[in-house]
Amino acid sequence: MKVTLKEDLIFSCYLSTIRRGNRVVVFHRLHPEFLNFSIKEWEEIKRFKNNINKGILKELLEKKLIINNRNIDRQELKLFEDSLNYDLNTLYLVLTRDCNLQCKYCMFSCLEKSEQDKQLMSELIAKQGINLWRKLVKKFDPKQQYNIILYGGEPLLNTVVLK
Ligand code: SF4
Repeated sequence: MKVTLKEDLIFSCYLSTIRRGNRVVVFHRLHPEFLNFSIKEWEEIKRFKNNINKGILKELLEKKLIINNRNIDRQELKLFEDSLNYDLNTLYLVLTRDCNLQCKYCMFSCLEKSEQDKQLMSELIAKQGINLWRKLVKKFDPKQQYNIILYGGEPLLNTVVLK
């Protein structure tokens, strides 16, 4: 069965493709499960106005490769970050989510920046974060190595805290 894509559907900014011969592999960069199309099929899907097979549309929607609002990309990023295994040996200080570049592979660069993303972490918050972390790791092995990672976005945008 064929359906027509509604106008409010858009491609996820995390959608990536790899061309292999006359096939196109399509995947979501935050949870790669590969879908395989012929070039012709993929070109039709990309045009977005032609009819599309209902089963294919369902799969693209389920994999969040086609979405109906940009917040879904943000939610996917949050799910991805929450799924990472952090341990107390390392403190990540996110000095800002902002960045002056737009690397293609970056999981932050394709999202529209909110005012919150553009904020720089203050010196006070950085110090409070480090002090809290020090209290938490005190209970652990003092001989172990502990790390602070200055993370972003682009941490170099926040020179005040970097210094
Ligand atoms: S945060 Fe890093 S990877 Fe992402 S766009 Fe900026 S420089 Fe590139």
